[in-house]
Amino acid sequence: MFYFDWTIWLIIPGLLLGIWAQSRVSSVYHRYSRVQTRLGRPASEVVAELLRRNGNDAVTVGRVNGSLTDHYNPATETLNLSEGVFDSASVAALGIAAHEAGHAMQKQEGYVPLMLRTAIVPAVNFCSGLSTPLFLIGLLFTWEALTTIGIILFAASTVFALVTLPVEFNASRRAVRMLTEGGYVTRDEEEGVRAVLNAAALTYVAAAVTSLLSLLRLVLIARRRRD
Ligand SMILES: [Zn+2]
Repeated sequence: MFYFDWTIWLIIPGLLLGIWAQSRVSSVYHRYSRVQTRLGRPASEVVAELLRRNGNDAVTVGRVNGSLTDHYNPATETLNLSEGVFDSASVAALGIAAHEAGHAMQKQEGYVPLMLRTAIVPAVNFCSGLSTPLFLIGLLFTWEALTTIGIILFAASTVFALVTLPVEFNASRRAVRMLTEGGYVTRDEEEGVRAVLNAAALTYVAAAVTSLLSLLRLVLIARRRRD
């Protein structure tokens, strides 16, 4: 079928990058979750203190099930740490917790890419759900306008993946700064924190690359059908 032609190969580099990034996150996280910080204080305690010291009193620190499910919710101002992070005093745990605190600081300071990302989430969810069906119906009935709309709707999710990059890189930079300035990590431990956060950032790069390639693929399919 036209939808599964040679252009499917275009996405392969993105998928491979994604698989590689995921395995790197697992191995780097595994390594640094066994390295305890000299400070020896649990991540939940450190993150609460980081927020307080940076004048952010609005955030509630909570616990969430699962592994590497840590996240900050700007709508409810809650920062949830996963089971393996909450009570842990490891280099990995402090890095991940501080990264989430970085997002909370972005919210407090009105960091534009975060505001933008939060604002477009509902629209992106709506658009991405409709894009593939419309695109396929457009192709089936050679209804070009519909195919184009499908591509435009898909582009919304590509924009989201791209806006995510500055948000994530900036949160990690804030994390390292807060941890080092506050004296929570030593020089060696800082390297570990960077390794964990860089590995995590790579998964977002892979997602953005995959999304861009998928978008390119839709454009190519649509153009060929028209010729
Ligand atoms: Zn993040």
